[in-house]
Amino acid sequence: MELRAKVPAGPIQEKWDRHRFDLKLVSPANKRKYHVVVVGSGLAGASAAATLAELGYRVSCFCFQDSPRRAHSIAAQGGINAAKNYQNDGDSIWRLFYDTVKGGDFRAREANVYRLAQISVDIIDQCTAQGVPFAREYGGLLANRSFGGTQVSRTFYARGQTGQQLLLGAYQALARQIGLGQVTMYPRAEMLDVVVIEGKARGIVVRDLVTGAISAHVADAVVLATGGYSNVFFLSTNAKGCNVTATWRAHKRGALFANPCFTQIHPTCIPPSGHHQSKLTLMSESLRNDGRIWVPKQAGDQRPPAQIPEDGRDYFLERLYPSFGNLVPRDVASRRAKEMVDGRHGVGPLANGVYLDFRDAVERLGRAGIIERYENLFEMYERITGEDAFATPMRIYPAPHYTMGGLWVDYNLMTTVEGLYAIGEANFSDHGANRLGASALMQGLADGYFVLPYTIGDYLAQTKLEPVGVNHMAFREVEAQVAARVAKLLAVNGTRTVDEFHRELGTLLWDRCGMSRTADGLTDAIARVRALRERFWREVRVVGSGEDFNQSLEKAGRVADFLEFAELMCEDALHRQESCGCHFREEYQTPDGEARRDDSRFAYVAAWEYTGAGTPPALHKERLEFEYVHLAQRSYK
Ligand SMILES: Cc1cc2nc3c(=O)[nH]c(=O)nc-3n(C[C@H](O)[C@H](O)[C@H](O)COP(=O)(O)OP(=O)(O)OC[C@H]3O[C@@H](n4cnc5c(N)ncnc54)[C@H](O)[C@@H]3O)c2cc1C
Repeated sequence: MELRAKVPAGPIQEKWDRHRFDLKLVSPANKRKYHVVVVGSGLAGASAAATLAELGYRVSCFCFQDSPRRAHSIAAQGGINAAKNYQNDGDSIWRLFYDTVKGGDFRAREANVYRLAQISVDIIDQCTAQGVPFAREYGGLLANRSFGGTQVSRTFYARGQTGQQLLLGAYQALARQIGLGQVTMYPRAEMLDVVVIEGKARGIVVRDLVTGAISAHVADAVVLATGGYSNVFFLSTNAKGCNVTATWRAHKRGALFANPCFTQIHPTCIPPSGHHQSKLTLMSESLRNDGRIWVPKQAGDQRPPAQIPEDGRDYFLERLYPSFGNLVPRDVASRRAKEMVDGRHGVGPLANGVYLDFRDAVERLGRAGIIERYENLFEMYERITGEDAFATPMRIYPAPHYTMGGLWVDYNLMTTVEGLYAIGEANFSDHGANRLGASALMQGLADGYFVLPYTIGDYLAQTKLEPVGVNHMAFREVEAQVAARVAKLLAVNGTRTVDEFHRELGTLLWDRCGMSRTADGLTDAIARVRALRERFWREVRVVGSGEDFNQSLEKAGRVADFLEFAELMCEDALHRQESCGCHFREEYQTPDGEARRDDSRFAYVAAWEYTGAGTPPALHKERLEFEYVHLAQRSYK
């Protein structure tokens, strides 16, 4: 299989404009003849479904929650980037482009990143016009704050609820189209397979999560906007429902999976407090604008923070990275925090955190100033830990948060299956080996509002699609396979819960394929994942029936997919004999503990092909060329 990224020729600043002109159009009268299935109604899916419908396409949109408004995007707190340069602090499209390529440790496709930076400014205009209540300066312009890996303030925000407000904007646009009959919304419907006919995606098979009914839906193109897979680690900052099922099933139907081992571990989460936990909570990166991160200088120091004098504190990020200080990128901050905890400098009852201290910020801005910026985050922290972050520093520790890996897509966001698109966190994205804060919302909305609506028309205008119906043999076969898998899960009738398997898998991945990795650890993890998967299919117990609302069954299907996917993650991490961004192989580091890339061997996107159960996946490489941001060792010192 040849990977063709289809990046247009010409100077990088002109590629997208020229491409838009070269793309074939579907006339307004013909758009209504096409039916597009959009799976997912988070920021990427809702913005795509609403925009496609607004253009005149007929759209069916699916989500597994009871309402599109409950998509995981609602959890996003800190903000969304855009190169508006309202602050006049030196920002520009070029700088956002540069920061993102560098932040991703040179493992992203330059042309896509440049386009993302260009479109970022339109997103803010669109969302403001929808009424998204971004914070404003006293003069009326939208306010900004800083996120990691940058030296400018370009992050737009709505208190600590930016995702929620953006999703309300996208949902309004979607609801308008539902009301007009242009979008048919299917909540509580889980896509369990893609139907591919003569090499083209022609529809999906879904299970109604309330009745258990399995049904097929025909389409002229299918868009997956199904989010990320951080929950493979069991404990993560993601909503509990986030999973890999849609993209994994598409992978098994021919879509290549890119960089599956690139998972972002976010430095500012509340540390785990015990075995009872099923979820971790993020404290927004925006807190690093004002909070200072430190640990006791003396290993094993158990004194309360107030009793540790200034000269007994190690503000390790400020010490190691004087230029960026507490705002180094997430991969760097996470690794350093781990180093501190591993070196017995950890704080809190389990000595598994570092401090994020607002004492100096309160002195500078006053309590009211902090409340204005972070009120809901302080409240959330207190509700979870019982501690008042004004009285004692917050405790934080890294946790799985976002997945840079995902389905491989070309410049048009099409996967390796014709007519099958992936957008938002579901694709392998523009963030390379590490995503900068506030860039996921930007990318999801860029894909949904501004890229896909152009590129999908090009495909539809040029492709001859035979009429097919749900009675086509291919649909019937896939429906039967989906039903058989559901029945198989119910039939195991073992003794262990789905969560037991999920927790065991998550612990294994966290230890072996988390913040740091080794060849031995990964080889061992692959063997153990295989053994765990076999045990799952012998010993899992799924209670209830398949004809009912059954969350145990839902979870079992997702964990079964995680158990297959985890092996590919480890294979990918094992084959990449270098460190880059989030992928830290202990064997490949600089003397001062930074990631050591090997550009001569690994400056590529690793895109894996499914070759069948029990046979090794095939690796395809998309070489990455860096014409505008020259390959260099990342430095934030
Ligand atoms: C706590 C938290 C805070 C964050 N804060 C920020 C931030 O401040 N700034 C930022 O840029 N990013 C942030 N992120 C990241 C960002 O929120 C996500 O990357 C982004 O919202 C993902 O959007 P999405 O539309 O791709 O997917 P999601 O919002 O996850 O939506 C996925 C959709 O797909 C549907 N779906 C999934 N599988 C199926 C299936 N099999 N069948 C049917 N439907 C399916 C779901 O129902 C849902 O509608 C944060 C993430 C977390 C966890």
